[in-house]
Amino acid sequence: MPLTYVVHYSEVALKGKNRPEFVRALRRNIARSLSGLAPVVELREGRFLVTAEGGAEAVGGRLSRTFGVAWFSEVVPVGLDFGEIRAAVLDAARRSQGKSFKVEPRRSDKGYPLTSRELALRLGAAVQEETGMKVDLTHPDVVLRVDVTRFNALVYSNKTAGPGGLPVGTAGRVMHLFSGGIDSPVAAWLLMKRGCVPVYLHFYLAPTARYALESKVMKEVKVLSSYGGKSTLVLVPFAEYQLATAGGSADLEPSLFRRFMRMTAEALAPAFGAIAISTGDSLSQAASQTLWNVGSFDHGSSLPILRPLLAYDKEEIIGMARRVSTYDLSLEEYKDCCAIITRHPRTRVKSDLVDEYVTKLGLHDLVWKAIDGATLASYNPVGDVLRSSPLADSMPRPQAADPRQIYEQGAGTRSLYDRQRDSPPA
Ligand code: ATP
Ligand code: MG
Repeated sequence: MPLTYVVHYSEVALKGKNRPEFVRALRRNIARSLSGLAPVVELREGRFLVTAEGGAEAVGGRLSRTFGVAWFSEVVPVGLDFGEIRAAVLDAARRSQGKSFKVEPRRSDKGYPLTSRELALRLGAAVQEETGMKVDLTHPDVVLRVDVTRFNALVYSNKTAGPGGLPVGTAGRVMHLFSGGIDSPVAAWLLMKRGCVPVYLHFYLAPTARYALESKVMKEVKVLSSYGGKSTLVLVPFAEYQLATAGGSADLEPSLFRRFMRMTAEALAPAFGAIAISTGDSLSQAASQTLWNVGSFDHGSSLPILRPLLAYDKEEIIGMARRVSTYDLSLEEYKDCCAIITRHPRTRVKSDLVDEYVTKLGLHDLVWKAIDGATLASYNPVGDVLRSSPLADSMPRPQAADPRQIYEQGAGTRSLYDRQRDSPPA
């Protein structure tokens, strides 16, 4: 038996012309998150009416991971006849097994012959008389809710909070530097919460990409896919960079490697239609994250750099990581390339110095060598399908070496991301 839900979005957050796009995207995302459960999603007077199979736990679990949902509830839809509403409310009261109650009617159809107050009084009297439950307007065991719409009445009691935010896909794509640590998955989650689609970019130390694909890195991407839908992960080998920079100044290493990651993200952005770069940095959490080093990371970037965790404390980030369900995974053993980079970096690295080394070590060319060896993985939570192939198979090498030119070349073209997304699941 399919269940019916009412799904509300927060209208306060919606301004002007964004609203229709938001509503369309949310409708699409709700349907996508419920795929496999035969969902039907209809827009009804500022809210969605959703039917789906699979049981309350499965449907509720997925709705509570769909950004843009303010709250939802399983409902019993009945006709507008008072007798039908009364019977459904009595049924809900009996099933609740509470000792006290209050009735909360809402009319989105103001033409209904009974006012909200009349509905509350008549339904309240019926519940008292038929079940013996007591009215308690301040701390009731159960709230019996009735929404009267133009088409039908929805009877329900418990409301479940959704994750809020904006529907994934309404704010653009972002190349997200993803380490598999505690912070970067949370940063990705916060970006999705504001409507962004992260394209995960991970630099791996292991001899092959397979190690990363079988590690916590991929497991975390899978968890994040339960919020954002189909995910793309680009795995870039660290080896080329490591070889070319060996023997350099150790205390500069983190800043230089981080600049290299940014340049790689910039170079890849057009292929994925990404218009920003993001990281899991939190201000001054590590020497590489001082305001000075944030500055030398960003210096000369052709794209904006987003840092959703900049102002959060570690404890706050851990709290969010638990909520997202990536915390335990992020503690799993993994050989990260940052582990072989010095533990005592400089806290005030000048941008010009990094620029100098970028030229001296030929990092622009190195970026493309690393990309030539990269792996493209896509994960579709529908059917749990993971596919991977060499990135070079699907991405032609651009002519220009300067990321700014590459970005301009790529602007407006159909991205690799779209082509991947459109391809039917294996
Ligand atoms: P995290 O928990 O996200 O690993 P962290 O506190 O360990 O963060 P760093 O290791 O300094 O901090 O990394 C800061 C940011 O740099 C990360 O959040 C991520 O965005 C990026 N980063 C670090 N290592 C990698 C990597 N191997 N691949 C891609 N991005 C990385
Ligand atoms: Mg890290």
